[in-house]
Amino acid sequence: MVKHIFITGGVVSSLGKGLTSAAIGMLLENRGFRISMQKLDPYINVDPGTMSPYQHGEVYVTDDGAETDLDLGHYERFTHAKVNCHSNYTTGKIYSEVIRKERKGDYLGRTVQVIPHITDEIKAAIQAAVDPSIDVAICEIGGTVGDIESLPFLEAARQLALSREPEDVLFVHLTLLPYLKASGEMKTKPTQQSVGKLREIGVQPHILICRTEKPISEEMREKISLFCNVPRRCVIEEKDVDFSIYELPVNLVKQGLDALIVEKLRLPASQPSDDSAWRRMLEKLKAPKHRVEIAVVGKYISLHDAYKSIYESLTHSGIPNDTKIELRKVAAEDVEQLGAAQLLAGVHGILVPGGFGERGVLGKVEAIRYARERKIPFLGLCLGMQCAVIEFARNVAGLAHAHSAEFDSKTSDPVIHLMPAQENVSDKGGTMRLGSYSCALRPGSRARAIYGTPQIEERHRHRFEFNNAYRERFESLGLLASGIHEPMNLVEIVEIPNHPFFVGVQYHPEYKSRPLEPHPLFREFVHAALTHAKALGNAPGKRPGESTGDASSSDTGHEGAEVGATSTTEIGAR
Ligand code: GLN
Repeated sequence: MVKHIFITGGVVSSLGKGLTSAAIGMLLENRGFRISMQKLDPYINVDPGTMSPYQHGEVYVTDDGAETDLDLGHYERFTHAKVNCHSNYTTGKIYSEVIRKERKGDYLGRTVQVIPHITDEIKAAIQAAVDPSIDVAICEIGGTVGDIESLPFLEAARQLALSREPEDVLFVHLTLLPYLKASGEMKTKPTQQSVGKLREIGVQPHILICRTEKPISEEMREKISLFCNVPRRCVIEEKDVDFSIYELPVNLVKQGLDALIVEKLRLPASQPSDDSAWRRMLEKLKAPKHRVEIAVVGKYISLHDAYKSIYESLTHSGIPNDTKIELRKVAAEDVEQLGAAQLLAGVHGILVPGGFGERGVLGKVEAIRYARERKIPFLGLCLGMQCAVIEFARNVAGLAHAHSAEFDSKTSDPVIHLMPAQENVSDKGGTMRLGSYSCALRPGSRARAIYGTPQIEERHRHRFEFNNAYRERFESLGLLASGIHEPMNLVEIVEIPNHPFFVGVQYHPEYKSRPLEPHPLFREFVHAALTHAKALGNAPGKRPGESTGDASSSDTGHEGAEVGATSTTEIGAR
């Protein structure tokens, strides 16, 4: 029977519960166990698809088209767990199901209550993520213990544990040991109190993972053990990582966390842990020979989490290229104000990510023009690809007013448009192309060479499409449609063969990149950037001063508020 691990968080949010959960998943896989990963989110949105990236970070899309929490990205980058629409439940999703059943009369006249109806629905959701092939189901409970919102989830986990043998369910609590500079001390009181809160609702954590800046002394460990009712060896230190989040699993293994979990869950004798490939990857990540500077020209630049999977994909792609990636984060609106030359001078590659809403679109188009004309490697993702088509239409095909119908519904040249079937649908939530779609790659194209296979599957999250009415004309001018979703005849990839690297894709390759298997598009983009850097004598690009964009309008797939800014940072640090 499947065993369960519940991971809760205490003291503050943003402790890295998602990463820790993913790392625990990896530890168990390295010992040969099959795992599933799930996230329960306490907010009332049915899914994060309607939230602004500035509220929530990126929306992570699964193969089956679920719009989910970005922690699922960590799960897929660290483990082989299959994520799907059951891997992420929110309070909103649970309640809407209960209310749907109530309206249908399924509760036979009974009063519908949090306990047992909501908690039963949560338990059903937990079971839905598990299939019989799974040894251990790992479930991260979002939010912070002590919040009203997460109570039903904790209660459901408690009930599930009650119905099972003690060795079948493990509670891991991630907490913070703040360091007070003034007194030079680490403090255990917040941890004691958050464990106290858990115990009040009937959950005694078995393992405490303590986020800390400094090592935990034996004395401190003893104190935590005594006050939190957890054996000393079950107090695990999770010190801030030095250079990469990918160090975390190795740090946890050093403290024997995997052996401890195997013992506590009385898992059958497992194979010895094998993380040699991961360690080799870390060695390469630590000591790159080269460096490149990549500009990411986007709308949600001030929040790292808004483009999380893209930044991670770039990091992964540095590994086989032996290259450190330095990011130049550029707010697309600033390009409109200051010009591409000022903000992009010296970069070795330009990436334009996806997005919704008009703000910054012309800045993206300008950045793409700069990349095309100066022969700087360019990768456009989703809206980034659409902007590449707009740029080509305006500046090469001479269609001065060409636009996407998303931004100008009356444009004379809607080079990006809604598919006819979608034009009259008013419920925007129902019209996106979401999840995995096939794509046939054109023989002889760059895309075909990059992937090394004639047929691929990639994940989508968009509403608008390349307008096939312009395909022949653009191809004759040098913009090749090199990937097609054949069943619906939709253009998935455009490329300029007469350019060192100019590729735009209608999908989101960033969801499928992993540290041990960097996505081929990102890998080859970074390779092209490195070639460009070498041609320039590997000179570091000039960094312009930081500049700030203004707060502005709604920008999600649906609605939401946000702010914008340009910053320059390096990737890889936690
Ligand atoms: N806004 C564009 C569309 O809906 C692109 C979406 C995206 O980049 N994810 O088609």
